[in-house]
Amino acid sequence: MTIRTRIAPSPTGDPHVGTAYIALFNLCFARQHGGQFILRIEDTDRVRSTAESEQMILDSLRWLGLEWDEGPDVGGPHGPYRQSERADIYGEYARQLIESGHAFKCYRTAEELDELREVRKAAGMQLALKPADLALPAEEVARREKEGWPHVVRMKVPSDGTCVIRDMLRGSIEVDWAQVDAQVLLKSDGMPTYHLANVVDDHLMGITHVLRGEEWINSAPKHQLLYEYFGWEMPELCHMPLLRNPDKSKLSKRKNPTSINYYRRMGFLPQAVINYLGRMGWSMPDEREKFSLDEMMAHFDIQRVSLGGPVFDLEKLTWLNGVYIREELDDDAFLEALMKWAFNEEYVREILPQVRPRVETLSQVVPLAGHFFSGLPAIEEESFDDVKLGREELLKLLQFLVWRFEVVPAWHKVALLAEVKALAEHFELKMKAFLAPVFIAITGSSSSTSVMDAMAILGSDMTRARLRHAIEVLGGVSKKQAKRFEKEYRELS
Ligand code: GLU
Repeated sequence: MTIRTRIAPSPTGDPHVGTAYIALFNLCFARQHGGQFILRIEDTDRVRSTAESEQMILDSLRWLGLEWDEGPDVGGPHGPYRQSERADIYGEYARQLIESGHAFKCYRTAEELDELREVRKAAGMQLALKPADLALPAEEVARREKEGWPHVVRMKVPSDGTCVIRDMLRGSIEVDWAQVDAQVLLKSDGMPTYHLANVVDDHLMGITHVLRGEEWINSAPKHQLLYEYFGWEMPELCHMPLLRNPDKSKLSKRKNPTSINYYRRMGFLPQAVINYLGRMGWSMPDEREKFSLDEMMAHFDIQRVSLGGPVFDLEKLTWLNGVYIREELDDDAFLEALMKWAFNEEYVREILPQVRPRVETLSQVVPLAGHFFSGLPAIEEESFDDVKLGREELLKLLQFLVWRFEVVPAWHKVALLAEVKALAEHFELKMKAFLAPVFIAITGSSSSTSVMDAMAILGSDMTRARLRHAIEVLGGVSKKQAKRFEKEYRELS
């Protein structure tokens, strides 16, 4: 049997370090067994999925040196590798399940579902809704069907007993069926949910081992049941420990930069990032700290994954990156790394229009444009002394901007300007006054190139990181403030 693994990211945001971590382990597992590694895009959420996010995921995984044998960009015998292009396939399998009596059309409205859950909550029962709870009298179903009411397709699930899942690292995991609801398989728009699409594709794409984050354990019973209903062999499951912040909470962008783009922009070397990710819960048989992707593949053993939450520590990664720069790069390689990073024609050309109108000699270029070639600016609390805003208002302004920028769908100047304008209005400030602190946070000084252009060029991750850095420099947002800010922000949006 050929071992086949996959990574199945949803293109709904920045390319996450967690995606790279899971991809790395899937790749190593496949390679170590002489198998194949597939990349599939799970974009059934049509509202949140974007082509830009997909492209960023592909680019950033490639930047890290991860290569896949089949995928939306490289093709392969089991395509298409984008779920949005496979809608017909899922519809067909959902029909099959209805015919075999393992799934049913459900005409319940959202209000009715809320009501059913309320009743259960009040009675202190499990919230999971079972087929019997959802059933309607036959004539009512017929009426709704005849009148063309929207419906979903749900799978049948047992009401009681336990489901036993086998996991390569965790052994047997028991889940009470009582907690598992009659999962929606096909939404009312005809698109599949993650569960149906994931199972159908893993089967059709010949996936033999599913290595994924532990947050998916609760989905496993539904998946196992679907494999049973279809009469397919289920891939082996392996739920990897989640990456954590140094305080052991789940790695989140609120506390640490989580986008691979950020690390790229900060000038981390892909070899160092991959090495560091390889050490997340895993170690080489000889426990050495520094190893290459090839070495990891050659010595990979999934049983060496330990389940204690691996901590993604920016300081340690920075240290390791320094070791790579000092020990692995000679002058030629260092120069090449620098050129790939920012000292290249493409990037410099982007910056030229910002600089030309503002200099009289070439030697003024570097001091003026230094912020395009650096990480977090060396600012202090006093840097904001001339900003005519109270501390709370200043923090709020920066925080609101971070939040707006987290969800701006496409990163370009026009879109950013619209966000800034809307917020300036909310704060009842002229654009210039609104942008004054933003200017310092982004460029590190009170006079430099245009801040709007700088943000557009620096990109979403570096911009947000600098705004967050300014918040920290100003003493940070207390829990109480955060509550107030969140309330006001919710009313605003
Ligand atoms: N689309 C899921 C994700 O975003 C895939 C989970 C899985 O590997 O089954 O991570």
